[in-house]
Amino acid sequence: MKVAICGAGVAGPTLAHWLLRGGHEPVLVEQSPTFRTGGYVIDFWGVGYTVAERMGILPAVRAAGYTMQELRFVDGRGRKAGGFSADVFRRTMGDRFTTLPRGDLAAEIYRSIEGRAETLFGNTISAIDEHKAGVRVSFGKGADREFDLAIGADGLHSAVRDLTFGAERQFEKQLGYFAAAFEAEGYHPRDDLAYVSYGVPGRQVARIALRENRTVFLFVFTSGRMSGREPRDLDERKAVLHQVFDDAGWECGGILQAMDKSPDLYFDRVSQISMDAWSKGRVGLVGDAAACVSLLAGEGTGLAVTEAYVLAGELSHAGDDYREALRRYEARLRPFIEAKQKSARNLAASFAPKTAIGLWVRNQAARLMGIPMVADLLIGRDMRDDFALPDYGL
Ligand SMILES: Cc1cc2nc3c(=O)[nH]c(=O)nc-3n(C[C@H](O)[C@H](O)[C@H](O)COP(=O)(O)OP(=O)(O)OC[C@H]3O[C@@H](n4cnc5c(N)ncnc54)[C@H](O)[C@@H]3O)c2cc1C
Repeated sequence: MKVAICGAGVAGPTLAHWLLRGGHEPVLVEQSPTFRTGGYVIDFWGVGYTVAERMGILPAVRAAGYTMQELRFVDGRGRKAGGFSADVFRRTMGDRFTTLPRGDLAAEIYRSIEGRAETLFGNTISAIDEHKAGVRVSFGKGADREFDLAIGADGLHSAVRDLTFGAERQFEKQLGYFAAAFEAEGYHPRDDLAYVSYGVPGRQVARIALRENRTVFLFVFTSGRMSGREPRDLDERKAVLHQVFDDAGWECGGILQAMDKSPDLYFDRVSQISMDAWSKGRVGLVGDAAACVSLLAGEGTGLAVTEAYVLAGELSHAGDDYREALRRYEARLRPFIEAKQKSARNLAASFAPKTAIGLWVRNQAARLMGIPMVADLLIGRDMRDDFALPDYGL
């Protein structure tokens, strides 16, 4: 089958990888003019880790990754106020856990198909017309083309979803937070292999030191902190972060100064996507486009690669019966993904506590993670993947 895939992030290239293995012909369409590396930092583990292993990219992913030692909550003077050793994640996951920039994971996936799958960078899908024998896809640039299927792997704000299923607001569940992230070079202080997090009610900022003297910062704040409409461009986003964090204390002054010099800033609502169906006719969705779990799940990339793997596997097994493949793909994954979405929503209150008492309770609870039995129980409960990865023999 010829398959148009919109989005070369995490899910798109994974889908292309497994479609190639099944003898299909994927074409990726990515809005960014080049493949983007770096970006915010993610934890990669669980069932997606196994998919990466089956793709043969695990050694490269681990080499790009970091073995974090500590999650440290600090107070306004930078003194430790709570936290725990990150060993607990590796112990619970049998050392199958690594931390790395999201774009670096995506790049390792993309490298596995580079030169073998056509990729249209700096382009998008602008229309999809389904007919009896396939789909006619129109692009932002260039002539229309015919495909057997069109798949949206274009993230939380998917254009393919908009085109096929309707406006995003029908499917988006806002979790009450905004998140922002940027990378800076030469920022000090640095704490190698520590995730250093500072919180005041409703606001949280974290810094993670990377190789080559780089640091990634992540801001999370409650939606109520932002007055006025959502910012639309880089300058407006920076202004909002100043408005919310200027008086927050700790290193916020220095961090905001570093942000002012940054040419790039991730800024978005923290949301989930919940749909009644992940496909319609010859159009399917995968990754955040289909069922974003949000950053609160800490596993969106792992789930995106898993969905892509299962979708490609089912397509290869079903022969020409794409309808049955899309049905089986969704039936296999929906209960698992919905459970992940539910547990992420349950976490929302403790992620960036809205009150001083909430912060104190969160820090005390984090201390309990220092007790191995408690940590294994809590992390095992929240992080275990209740999903048997099928083997499609690809
Ligand atoms: C701050 C933050 C922290 C996170 N932390 C973690 C974590 O610790 N662990 C974890 O596993 N997950 C984490 N996640 C979630 C994870 O990043 C996502 O779930 C994952 O990237 C989803 O992959 P995807 O391929 O579906 O979408 P994306 O990675 O968003 O990729 C979508 C791609 O589509 C392209 N695109 C978008 N629109 C169009 C268009 N119209 N036309 C063409 N191309 C388009 C984009 O440029 C992009 O390349 C975090 C997310 C955030 C925001």
